[in-house]
Amino acid sequence: MYSAPHTAVGITCTMLTYKLTNNLNASYLVGGIAAFMSHYFVDYLGEAGLKKSELFKFDVLPNIVILLIGFVSGNFWLFLVGSTMGNLMDIIDKKFYLSIFYPKKYPATYFFHTQTPIIKFTEKQTKIAAFVSILICITLIFI
Ligand SMILES: [Zn+2]
Repeated sequence: MYSAPHTAVGITCTMLTYKLTNNLNASYLVGGIAAFMSHYFVDYLGEAGLKKSELFKFDVLPNIVILLIGFVSGNFWLFLVGSTMGNLMDIIDKKFYLSIFYPKKYPATYFFHTQTPIIKFTEKQTKIAAFVSILICITLIFI
């Protein structure tokens, strides 16, 4: 799965931990670990491969919007930790995403990517998932 859904699920982990415990340190630690582990399961949802030109619009931009929402709402660190931990398996295996753009120079590894997607999204569903990811993060502020 692309990054924005991992971001949304990771932030869900940190934000819900905070809503349940009202403890920031627990939210960074427990929520962060849950966010990290969530990546493996979210990757059972397979994305449709978008063109590199569409990746900015449907993956990078939603992540920027989500972090801005976190900043404006006063939850920036919970959003940043959730987002980072939710994407950490890809950050490691895709070498800070360099393997997407320079696969020969920075070949991807599969330490955390042994699963085969169970549900394969269409291109339209993949794009909608980015939008839904933003909506989930907005919703989390008001829970
Ligand atoms: Zn992944």
